[in-house]
Amino acid sequence: MENINNYISKKNDDISLKQNYIKHLEDYRFKSVIKLFNIKEELGCKYTSLIMDSSVEIDNCKNCKGLFECKNSIKGYCNTPVVKDKVINFSYNMCRYLNKEQYKDNLTLFDVPKSIKNASLKDVYTNDKNRIAIIKEIKKFISDYKNDKNPKGIYLYGSFGSGKTYLIAALFNELAKTNVKSVIVHVPELMRDLKESFSNSYSEKFSALKRVPLLLLDDIGAEYITAWSRDEVLEPILQYRMDQGLPTFFTSNFSVDELEKHFSMTNNSIDKVKAKRIIERVKQLSNSVELISKNLRS
Ligand code: ADP
Ligand code: MG
Repeated sequence: MENINNYISKKNDDISLKQNYIKHLEDYRFKSVIKLFNIKEELGCKYTSLIMDSSVEIDNCKNCKGLFECKNSIKGYCNTPVVKDKVINFSYNMCRYLNKEQYKDNLTLFDVPKSIKNASLKDVYTNDKNRIAIIKEIKKFISDYKNDKNPKGIYLYGSFGSGKTYLIAALFNELAKTNVKSVIVHVPELMRDLKESFSNSYSEKFSALKRVPLLLLDDIGAEYITAWSRDEVLEPILQYRMDQGLPTFFTSNFSVDELEKHFSMTNNSIDKVKAKRIIERVKQLSNSVELISKNLRS
């Protein structure tokens, strides 16, 4: 007797599950997920409410313009069904916008305008023939780096506002997509920082500048230099990176020879020797490329 009751009760449950499922099929979002993932009726009945939750998220993603308007329960993720034979699991998949943002985290900026994070090789202006040399050098670097050829960095110098920082940032962003970490540090600001305090945050920064796989020392030569910052900060960073074979990039308004004069500061012979030491390292670490182009800031 009991068995029959159980049987009847189960049948009734099945009927109400099915009715619930059919009712949900009236919702276009639910219906389209059933179709898209080819979910059989039996599974659809069993997971109706979870599929409904997921359908809402998938639909939210359809016309979404960016993370700023994400309506899903976990920002940047979409609750998505993974259909197996007899069960459905639900997984939170990262959306295209978050995915795009995340690779940018591989590039760290110290005192450089945040907008440079969006620098991209595909947006680099190629209409100016003065840029041919640098674009060629950038492409070569990327290909050599990907092929483990241990390439040198680039010393990019030339006129103000010609896009030097932008170009190297675009290179870093390209490699960020393959998970390569990089740092851009604005040298004048770094030196100013140092003068103020040799704080904890500085020693972290110092270590990052030494060890990060790709480093850009941005606007080198525009800083106020002291013997100490030259010999105790810059020189050890360059020395370490040279020893470890870590590609190092520079942007400057000065050519390498002009930079040597800048580091000499005075005409005394010790300064001259120290400046030469720095310049030797700069030359070991990078190939020099000139970029004279119109000022993109004006
Ligand atoms: P530099 O470092 O030579 O002084 P920047 O790299 O700072 O010049 O570039 C100057 C301005 O032009 C910046 O605002 C930068 O974002 C913009 N810029 C440079 N190159 C491009 C590019 N290819 N596409 C879009 N903006 C660019
Ligand atoms: Mg710059």
